[in-house]
Amino acid sequence: MGRMGAEDPSRTFPAESLADDEVRGLLKQAATELGARAWIVGGYVRDRLLGRPHPDIDVVVEVGLGFDLAQRFAQLAGAGQPVIFERFGTAQVTVPGHLVEFVSARAESYASDSRKPEVRPATLEDDLRRRDFTVNTLLMDFDGNVHDPLGRGLADLDARVLRTPADPIQTFSDDPLRMLRAIRFAAQLGFDLAPELLPAMRQMKDRLSSPVVSVERVTDELRKILVSERPRLALELLDQGGLIEGILPEVAACKGVKQGGYHTHDVFGHTLLVVATTPPDVLVRLAALFHDVGKPATAGADGTFVGHDVVGADLAAKALERLRFPQKEIEAVAHLVRLHLRPVFYSSEWTDGAVRRLARDAGPLLRQLMELARADIAASAYPHPEKLDELQARLDAVLSEQPSRLEAPVNGEDVMRVRGIAPGPEVGRVKQRLTELVLDGVIEPTRDAVLAYLETHPDL
Ligand code: ATP
Ligand code: MG
Repeated sequence: MGRMGAEDPSRTFPAESLADDEVRGLLKQAATELGARAWIVGGYVRDRLLGRPHPDIDVVVEVGLGFDLAQRFAQLAGAGQPVIFERFGTAQVTVPGHLVEFVSARAESYASDSRKPEVRPATLEDDLRRRDFTVNTLLMDFDGNVHDPLGRGLADLDARVLRTPADPIQTFSDDPLRMLRAIRFAAQLGFDLAPELLPAMRQMKDRLSSPVVSVERVTDELRKILVSERPRLALELLDQGGLIEGILPEVAACKGVKQGGYHTHDVFGHTLLVVATTPPDVLVRLAALFHDVGKPATAGADGTFVGHDVVGADLAAKALERLRFPQKEIEAVAHLVRLHLRPVFYSSEWTDGAVRRLARDAGPLLRQLMELARADIAASAYPHPEKLDELQARLDAVLSEQPSRLEAPVNGEDVMRVRGIAPGPEVGRVKQRLTELVLDGVIEPTRDAVLAYLETHPDL
């Protein structure tokens, strides 16, 4: 097949994806040559049957031939050398459009204080039994036929149920992340949890923490849950399974915090509604999740929550640091939480200056802030976010002003020269004041106009 290497600078476009049956054909050829018994397993088979895209392909291989099959498949596909993960006993091969991962059939046993299993070669059935859910134990042979060796997968897929192949207490105890995976699959696929899963979660909930489960694995699932189609369902399941206190204590603290006036739900219920009402953008959904976490600490006897935006931003940042989100995302979410009330409080009386200040303060997060505010209003007792259409039109107008009125077009040097002052806080103060006057339309947004104003207003 001879694909060009990455060293060819003309090849910046993505190579066309290999069709699924082409990949299967190459797998079949490699397996036949080696006499290896191998199947596609897990999510790929599940999603194919559900009609959902799933480009990554997991292959399970009997009697320890995983690495050999990976090697031969890579050669036949003209791909690079397999990437071997000794620790997990897996080998990955990338072909256009697909990451193909090979694993030798294995059984695992776990010590109670760790999820690092002791791994030994095993039969295919043993391998399938240690998997998380019956719908993830389905196999597909390289001719495209589906097999259900444990005899539960197809029925559960049909009934849209997530069930563990073994006793859920055992399955969850061996790798507690599976509790979160259950909830994530429920949110992504719209499947029900088998009735024994929530009680098992409540029993095993304390194991879902470091060092048994790394923060990164938890956060990875949380991210998928948040951008799924059913984040509200997932948060309710996290609550019912007793997992929310451990993972999101700031959000859990909103349970039972009553609020009247603008609201139909307690703070927790309202939060879930807002999350469900936002588009599936991870920053917006995180901001929705944390937007009111400042309320429990600021609840006044009169039903107000003065300062909950500022307190909430701080709590959100701490939570996301604990969950090891990237610093850029932490800052963005904290900023959105801090500003979330501004568009909500919009009224037609706002001056253009106030609209410009909002645009300036939100900066590159303005779209996300407006999406959050829209959802916040829609999830209130007065679900009329239409006023935000008016605000959006005014924001669009001030953002397209030429020259821009969001900043005074002078710098610190200008201020020092005209005022005859040395560097220091006074320079910043004067510049800030000029910016406010430009924002309010008092000074025209040209350099000449701002310098003239500076010269004629020594008391600025
Ligand atoms: P997705 O790719 O959307 O996460 P998936 O089902 O393919 O869904 P992967 O994490 O890619 O999930 O794992 C592939 C397969 O490996 C799963 O279908 C399942 O059979 C098995 N598996 C993955 N993680 C676990 C786990 N923590 N415990 C048991 N089995 C697992
Ligand atoms: Mg997968």
